[in-house]
Amino acid sequence: MSYEQIEVPDDGEVITVDEATGELVVPSNPIIPIIHGDGIGQDVGPAAQQVLDAAAEATGRSISWMQLYAGQSARDRYDENLPDETVDAIRDHRVAIKGPLTTPVGSGFRSLNVALRKKLDLYTNVRPTYYLDGVPSPVTAPEQMDMISFRENTEDVYAGIEWEAGSDDVERVREFIEEEMGYEDTIHEGPVGIGVKPISEFGSKRLIREAFDYAIENDRDSVTLVHKGNIMKFTEAAFRDWGYELAEEEYGDDLITEDELWDEYDGEAPEDVVVVKDRIADNMLQQLLTRTDQYDVLAMPNLNGDYLSDAAGAQIGGLGIAPGANLGEGRVLAEPVHGSAPKYAGQDKVNPTAMILSGRIMLEQLGWDDAADLVRDAVEATISAGEVTYDLHRQIEGGTKLATSEYADAVCERIEDLA
Ligand code: NAD
Repeated sequence: MSYEQIEVPDDGEVITVDEATGELVVPSNPIIPIIHGDGIGQDVGPAAQQVLDAAAEATGRSISWMQLYAGQSARDRYDENLPDETVDAIRDHRVAIKGPLTTPVGSGFRSLNVALRKKLDLYTNVRPTYYLDGVPSPVTAPEQMDMISFRENTEDVYAGIEWEAGSDDVERVREFIEEEMGYEDTIHEGPVGIGVKPISEFGSKRLIREAFDYAIENDRDSVTLVHKGNIMKFTEAAFRDWGYELAEEEYGDDLITEDELWDEYDGEAPEDVVVVKDRIADNMLQQLLTRTDQYDVLAMPNLNGDYLSDAAGAQIGGLGIAPGANLGEGRVLAEPVHGSAPKYAGQDKVNPTAMILSGRIMLEQLGWDDAADLVRDAVEATISAGEVTYDLHRQIEGGTKLATSEYADAVCERIEDLA
């Protein structure tokens, strides 16, 4: 594979997919594309790379990094935001990691993150939220949280189907809605912006299937479908209904509903059975706080997933900690939950843990569970020793405030000690 401006390392091998099983075939020295990203991406990107290298080396492997460009770094080199060859290189190499990319609010270009997810059909966004010992939290029992969110990544109000107030197009859409579809007294007079919220059976079921499979494979207790179906009956309620339908169609005795749990098992689920439940999104936001330990795997349409996973992330330490990844068929793009925090860019100050733990998800996806565990244990040991970046330091008593790069060094030392 060759590209115009991307340098391909000559000492690594390409990850492929076994056509029969759909599983990734991962060499011990894979080429992995990385986009450092905008703003603080230049700080957290190299820090994560250093830690992931250390974990790979400690487990007898190596990573050949391939630098890709998007956002500002692509504007500098290609005079565009998201060059085709960046997307092609991720597609060709299957597993990649990226830092945050800046999206202007309102006018300007559309989100590059959304574009990447769409172009690569990365239809699932996963965000594990688990507590690391020593991390300051705004809640009293953060250790009760051990949850993983599966957020649909390609549709809902994020589909990008919307029209600007005052445009000819929005007036055509208004006319269609009012005159042809019969909603005459619904939209206020005067300028209006209109967006469309598609939620499909296909998109919902393939996302919920990922959540069900994960729950079964990882011995989780429940999957909760989070929706706003009381108000949006044909989109959000349909998501819930398709979830239950899928459970019945494809999972037989492996899944039971909450009603069945009480009617047939007196509230005690048999071993190896996952309970499927559903909650309305606003209620779910308070349940996250008040009944944290009753939630395990969440499956959500795009917008609910965005809000809920940030709120869950706050309970276990916030944006500096919260990791994520986007998954498609035989493809992985790991990325932290946080954005590019431009005011801290280039100061060697912010917390690289979210990017490092996103790398941990990537390692798990490679099947390198030993390296993934090492990363988690080393991060936890570093934080619980009070060696933290400024964001956590200001919330704890004592401790040592480290720069981004010093923190990465400290985690690497722990990896060496633990290996
Ligand atoms: P943000 O996550 O960039 O920053 C919000 C605040 O969170 C920061 O001011 C900082 O106090 C804190 N923070 C974030 N990351 C941190 C870290 N690693 N360590 C310590 N503190 C951290 O959110 P924002 O200000 O809403 O967005 C800034 C830009 O990032 C926008 O252009 C937005 O579109 C973009 N963004 C990108 C992604 C992505 O690339 N996936 C995600 C969210 C936002």
